[in-house]
Amino acid sequence: MQKPDLKEAQKRSKKKPKIITDFIIDENLINLGLSKKYFVKTYGCQMNEHDSEKIKAMLEKMNYQATSNMEEADVIVLNSCSIRENAHNKVFGMIGQLKKLKDKNEDLILVLCGCMAQEEIVVAKILEKYYWLDIVFGTHNINNFPNLLGQKIFAKKQQIEVFSKEGEIYEGLPIKRKFPHKAWVNIMLGCDKFCAYCIVPYTRGKQRSRKRKYILNEIKDLIANGCQEITLLGQNVNAYGKDLADNYYFADLLNDIGKLNMPRVRFMTNHPWDFNDEIIFAIQKNKNIMPHIHLPLQSGSDQVLQKMNRGYCQEEYIALYFKLKKAIPNICISTDIIVGFPTESEEDFQETLKVVNKCQFDYAFTFIYSKRVGTPAAKLEDKIPLAEKEKRLQKLNKYISSYALESNQRFKSKEVKVLVDGFSEKNKQVLTGYSEHMKRVNFYGAEELIGRIVLVKITDVKTWSLFGVLSDEWC
Ligand code: SF4
Repeated sequence: MQKPDLKEAQKRSKKKPKIITDFIIDENLINLGLSKKYFVKTYGCQMNEHDSEKIKAMLEKMNYQATSNMEEADVIVLNSCSIRENAHNKVFGMIGQLKKLKDKNEDLILVLCGCMAQEEIVVAKILEKYYWLDIVFGTHNINNFPNLLGQKIFAKKQQIEVFSKEGEIYEGLPIKRKFPHKAWVNIMLGCDKFCAYCIVPYTRGKQRSRKRKYILNEIKDLIANGCQEITLLGQNVNAYGKDLADNYYFADLLNDIGKLNMPRVRFMTNHPWDFNDEIIFAIQKNKNIMPHIHLPLQSGSDQVLQKMNRGYCQEEYIALYFKLKKAIPNICISTDIIVGFPTESEEDFQETLKVVNKCQFDYAFTFIYSKRVGTPAAKLEDKIPLAEKEKRLQKLNKYISSYALESNQRFKSKEVKVLVDGFSEKNKQVLTGYSEHMKRVNFYGAEELIGRIVLVKITDVKTWSLFGVLSDEWC
């Protein structure tokens, strides 16, 4: 049994990460899943979604088949998120529900992985209360999942293997992508920013940038297979390359990717502190980089930003925001905002509203601060009552929605290029996809358009989506 250790997880050394390229599944494990089914439930961010794509591919290499019905699965994987308390609660609620399935079928294998598995308190709770989980592994050893599954099945013993280390880089893991026409491409792992409220540097390890040759080859393969859009993923993509000793940074990577024949390139997420002019020039220069940037603000108050250890002040954020607006005409900028950070006074909150009213974001993800055990912010005294935090959130959301609607209105009667993802969940005759500016666009159309970039004329505008009609010509 290997349990997580928070103190170990926050250590950073100058050691270069190992690059491990020899992923293979032992031949004794290949047929483990014959006539068996798996179900993977993913919580949290795109990084987790992408990890689930690797977990699914490993299971399929072992001949398991996917099912969308959890009750008929032989292996259930919960890929968890620890960014907020409610994500924790949802996962523990689900583990509780799964006990009933386990009681009916003792051969059912229940797996917990992802960021929650990296937390000391979570693993302690599992050992004490949620003993029916069969396998727990963390973010540093996804590659070992097939072996852990094999050991559980053959030795009939609970497997807990969570490493608290800086982390390696695994190349060549299989991936079962959700869409053939769009893909996530990890360019880096981990984070060294240590924002005071954030657990990610502990759960995902040290910043490790992938070598450019692996990234570019992955993108070339995607192009050869007809992919239309990639999103470069990392906790802070703007810091790409700062841990490599070859003077090759995010702007260089964008310029190299820009030369490839990938119709759409996106990236997320960004950190204002590392967003330099070279990156702005690369976005300007490469026409396949989409005009949408997610630029987390978190707070508009200098006092709170400092306590959050964000490394920028209100003035610097606003200057960067308008530099981007000026450099890239019509760019959409979205953001993340936390309200109710322990030291946030009413005046601090007003500073956040001031920035929101000045920047008028295209959209924003807004949250009430959630205490994460082990982070520096968890030690701050939190005197703000929950009702006050909720009031601030509601007030903030009113502004955010009105600016989102205003932002969408500028597309009324315009033609936008939409990459079609599929039919809408709500109406199976309506196709849905995203415009270049990352606006969700719905329109009536035929199945053959899925996976293609089409022109849609916008006829109706809502706060969070656009509606249109297919133009006669499509690109
Ligand atoms: S940049 Fe800050 S908020 Fe983002 S993952 Fe790193 S520590 Fe967390």
